[in-house]
Amino acid sequence: MAAECRHREIPPRSGTAFTLAKGDRLSVIDPCGEQVADLLAYNRHDVGEVISSGRTLDYASRIYLTTGDPLYSNRSNVLLRIVEDTVGRHDFLLTPCSADTFRIIYGDADPHRGCFGNLAAALAPFGIGPDAIPVAFNCFMNVPIDAATGAFTVEPPLSRAGDRIVFEAEMDLIIGLTACSALQSNGGSFKPIHYEITRSGSASLPSNF
Ligand SMILES: [Zn+2]
Repeated sequence: MAAECRHREIPPRSGTAFTLAKGDRLSVIDPCGEQVADLLAYNRHDVGEVISSGRTLDYASRIYLTTGDPLYSNRSNVLLRIVEDTVGRHDFLLTPCSADTFRIIYGDADPHRGCFGNLAAALAPFGIGPDAIPVAFNCFMNVPIDAATGAFTVEPPLSRAGDRIVFEAEMDLIIGLTACSALQSNGGSFKPIHYEITRSGSASLPSNF
């Protein structure tokens, strides 16, 4: 039985970081539709252990993950498991958008810091530096792939208002989470992301821990 539930909003083109305890559930919600959220996870007790796209996709033998799939660390431990998914299309191939993304792909002269910069700022208080940011699990990001050539495109998310993906923590974690800053990934507009944490433990857990 859920002992605690809280709701939070990540404003457009921003990010946040927080902790989860083993057994907690994190719901990432697209409140408006067609908005991506980049998710990172680190072992709370040893931040050298981090979410790994390569290991997760290797073990899944698929690139599109959904309900029931585990997300592995660089040490092949399960960090999170997807326990609910109302969309069924997410990306785990592409790195967080960044100032370099906007300079190289969009030609911006004065680029936004993107999910990468937002994640680096949010994770800094936890002692996690920018070089420790890997490929994120990109909730709702829609990257169809041509099976014959491997060519891919970034298309608008398939998520509609109120769609969600829910993760359960399989160890104590630090989570980084964004409302993605890249126009192409988000159907051409920047929107917020909502999230909820459902604590598995006692109601006496402080809400900020
Ligand atoms: Zn982004």
